[in-house]
Amino acid sequence: MIPKKQIVDLPVYQPGKPIDEVKRELGLEQIVKLASNENPFGCSPKVKEAIVPVLDQLAIYPDGGSMALREELAAFLEVDGSQLVFGNGSDELVMLTSRAYLEPGANTVMATPTFPVYKTTATVEGAEVIEVPLVDGVHDLKGLLANINEQTRVVWVCNPNNPSGTMNSEEEIKTFLDQVPKSVLVVLDEAYYEYVTDASYPESLKLLPQYSNVLILRTFSKIYGLAGLRIGYGVASPDIVDKLNRVREPFNTSSIAQVAAIAAMKDQEFVQSCRSLNDSGRKQLYAAFDEMGLSYYPSQGNFVLVDTKKDGNDVFQALLQKGYIIRSGRALGFPTWIRVTVGNEEQNSGFLAALREVL
Ligand SMILES: *Cc1c(COP(=O)(O)O)cnc(C)c1O
Repeated sequence: MIPKKQIVDLPVYQPGKPIDEVKRELGLEQIVKLASNENPFGCSPKVKEAIVPVLDQLAIYPDGGSMALREELAAFLEVDGSQLVFGNGSDELVMLTSRAYLEPGANTVMATPTFPVYKTTATVEGAEVIEVPLVDGVHDLKGLLANINEQTRVVWVCNPNNPSGTMNSEEEIKTFLDQVPKSVLVVLDEAYYEYVTDASYPESLKLLPQYSNVLILRTFSKIYGLAGLRIGYGVASPDIVDKLNRVREPFNTSSIAQVAAIAAMKDQEFVQSCRSLNDSGRKQLYAAFDEMGLSYYPSQGNFVLVDTKKDGNDVFQALLQKGYIIRSGRALGFPTWIRVTVGNEEQNSGFLAALREVL
């Protein structure tokens, strides 16, 4: 059998270790997973209530157009329903973007290190990937601009950036968008939008009328706590939405996910509470890192990248023995760093105690 040549050398995604597997392997009772930027507070209790009636409808295909969710979300975001597209997680929307806009002979420009799915999906489509190093952990927007050429179709900006947690301000993003050719699609991946507390962060939805080449990606996986249900969305001009819909499977989001997303979206009190607890959690981690003399990037997400000054894989292994699953920075492009998801206060303290012992 002859596979597509672009995929032969693709790395297989390495997920955070599942809790049960680690428990079994190490014979540990209690495991805390701070590896996948999941919400330590779960999701809104309203979600559970809302999905129960759907359990009686499992024989029925979901609404392929997500009409109910579309209507609610359009009203909430103050955009037109025709500007929304839904995906099986925003990961799928990244894939659909590559599928719709990239092909052999075209190129795509992105930061490095950044969210790996941009590169993987672009590579599958046979496009050339141009990577521009972060500067002090931050997207080098001037560098991205300088690398755009006639063949460029898509530029990716992960804001806040995973894994560094840093962000670009509204002013920086606007200056950037003013200079990107209108024929080039700019993807603003805002998976951590709801966690941002910095006032200079762009209100990107307001930029859409002026920049018809922008696609904003957001998700219900992170602050909304629905990672297991897989649902995310894109907001863009109806033209971009139309192109993504052409390559989208008809029933890509489940009926349970659609209903859950509506209930989650309506509980903004839960979102606010998570944002504020996360902000306290970040400060809790920073204070301890400062005390330990470790440098880190100030994060606008629910994770912090910190330099342990030791091999990230070794620190990962040592923390694992103590029941804490985090991410080694080695595979993320930061060999001596680790990325830790902000947990609840108790999880953070436990992690910090373990880290102190390990270092
Ligand atoms: C987590 C994450 C996503 C997507 O998550 P989904 O669960 O697929 O919605 C997208 N982009 C970034 C940068 C992320 O960290």
